[in-house]
Amino acid sequence: MPSSPGTRRVVVIGGGISGLSAAYYIRQLARTSDLPVEVILLEKERRVGGKFIARREDGYLVEGGPNGFLDSKPWTLDLVRDMGMESSLLPSDQAAARRFIFSRGKLHELKASPLSFFLSDLLSLRGRLRIFGELVAPTTPPGEDTSLAEFARRRLGKEALERMLDPMVSGIFAGDPERMSLRACFPRIAELEEDYGGLVRAMVKIAAERKRAKRAGEQVPASSGPSGPGGVLTSFRGGVSELSDRLAESLGEGVRTAVGVSSVATAGGGWHIGTDRGDISSDAVILATPADAAAAILAGAAPRSAAVLAEIPYSPMAVIGLGYSLANVDDPPHGFGYLIPGIERRKILGALWTSSIFPGNRSPERHFLIRAMVGGAKDHDTPFLDDETLVAVVRRELAATMGLVAEPSFVTVFRWEKAIPLYTVGHLERLARAESLLPPGLVLTGNAYRGVGINDCVRESKVSAQRVLDHLFPA
Ligand SMILES: Cc1cc2nc3c(=O)[nH]c(=O)nc-3n(C[C@H](O)[C@H](O)[C@H](O)COP(=O)(O)OP(=O)(O)OC[C@H]3O[C@@H](n4cnc5c(N)ncnc54)[C@H](O)[C@@H]3O)c2cc1C
Repeated sequence: MPSSPGTRRVVVIGGGISGLSAAYYIRQLARTSDLPVEVILLEKERRVGGKFIARREDGYLVEGGPNGFLDSKPWTLDLVRDMGMESSLLPSDQAAARRFIFSRGKLHELKASPLSFFLSDLLSLRGRLRIFGELVAPTTPPGEDTSLAEFARRRLGKEALERMLDPMVSGIFAGDPERMSLRACFPRIAELEEDYGGLVRAMVKIAAERKRAKRAGEQVPASSGPSGPGGVLTSFRGGVSELSDRLAESLGEGVRTAVGVSSVATAGGGWHIGTDRGDISSDAVILATPADAAAAILAGAAPRSAAVLAEIPYSPMAVIGLGYSLANVDDPPHGFGYLIPGIERRKILGALWTSSIFPGNRSPERHFLIRAMVGGAKDHDTPFLDDETLVAVVRRELAATMGLVAEPSFVTVFRWEKAIPLYTVGHLERLARAESLLPPGLVLTGNAYRGVGINDCVRESKVSAQRVLDHLFPA
C-alpha cells in the first residue's frame, strides 16, 4: 500500500533487537519532531526477536540466546523506561556477582579486589608477578589495531592471556583472541592504554578519581573489575523476549513477519526492496540483519560493501538447558556460573547457573536450571552433534568440571549456526570503508558492527534511526 502524500517511508530489514529498536526510535524521534514518517519492518521468520528466544516447558523458562543486559550502560534501560516497562524488569540475584573460572581441575572464584585477586591461585605465582610487568610493557603504536592475544601477551603475560582473557572472550564472543581486534571488541581497554599508558596505571588513576568524586558527593558509576563487567545483569520476568515482543506490539501493523528480503536497489532517489512476497518501495532503508544476510541483500546495490560484510566470520554455538530436581542435587551451585579457558581442552565453553542468577523465576519450585554453552570460534563440530550425543557430552563435562553427576529431569537444546560475529583485527577500518561505499539513504545496524551486547545494539539502533531521519529531513 502506498504511504500518504508527503509521508516518507522507512523500511527496516530484520526483526532482532537491532531492527526492532531502530524502528521504534524512528517512530519516536519522528513523532517528537513532528515529521511525517511511516515505518515498515520486514522479518524473514514467523516470529520477531532474532537471538531473543525462550522456551517455556515443564515450568522452566529457558533462553536460547541472551539472558540479560548490564544496567551499568544506559541504552537498554532508557528504552525500557521509554516504553513504560520498568515493572517487568528482573535484576539478577546478588549471588550472580560470584563468577568462576575452571582451571587446572577446579573452579576458581574471580575476586573483585586487586589484593584478593593477587592471593587467588587462578594464576601461578609467576603469572601473578608477571602482571606487574604491565607497568613497563610497550604500548600499542598510536592508531594501530592489534589482536586481543598479542595485547594480553605483551601487557599481562602468556598465562593471564590463557587463563583469564581467553575465557572472558569466550564468554562474550565465543571467539578466538588470536584473531580478534582489540579496538573493536574492547574499545575501552584500547582507550585506557592510549590515555594512561597502561591498564594498571589507568586502574590506579581512575580509583583515585572515583575516591575524590565520592568524597565530593558526586555520582560515581559502577566500575568493572577482574571478576566481570560492572553493573547488574538485568532481564525481564518473561525473559528478554518480553522486550522484543513489546517493541513489535508498539509497531503494530508496521511489522511484517515471514517476509524474507532478497535485494535492495536504488530507484529514483528512493529504494526498491525485493522480497519473497513482492516488491516494496521506500525512501530509506535500515539493514539490521546479520552480516552475511546483509551482504547477500546488498550484492547488486553495493557490491564492494557487500564483499566486506561477507567476510565477517561468525562462531557457531549450542545452548543446552538442563533441569534438575533439587532432591537429586546435594549442593546446588550458587553464583553466576563459570567459563573454561581453551587451554583446558574441554568440550563446553562454560555453564550459567540460571536458577541462581534469577531465583524463583526460571525453574519450577525445588528444581534447578543450568545452561551449558558449546561451540565457539575453535569448535565448529560439537554444536551440531545429534541431541542425544550432545547432551551426553555436556553431562560428562559438567561432571568433570563442576562435579554435577545427577540425571537431569529436563533437557532442551538450541543451536545457532552463526551465533556471534567475530570482529577480527582491522574490523573497524574495513567497516568504515564498507559504509563509505553505501548509496545514501541506506544505513547498516546490528551486532555485526560496533558491539554484540544488547546495550550496544540498542545504542547503535538509535544512532541509525537519527541518521535516517537526518537523510530524509535535512536541516
Ligand atoms: C547464545 C547467545 C547468548 C548471548 N548472551 C548475551 C547476553 O547475555 N547479553 C547480551 O547483551 N548479549 C548476548 N548475546 C548477544 C546478543 O543476543 C545479540 O548480539 C543480539 O541479540 C543481536 O541482535 P540483532 O538484532 O543485531 O541480530 P539478530 O538477533 O540476529 O536479528 C537479525 C534478524 O534478521 C532477520 N533476517 C535475516 N535475514 C533476513 C532477510 N533476508 N530478510 C528479513 N529478515 C532477515 C533474522 O531472522 C533475525 O530475526 C548472546 C548471543 C547468543 C547467540
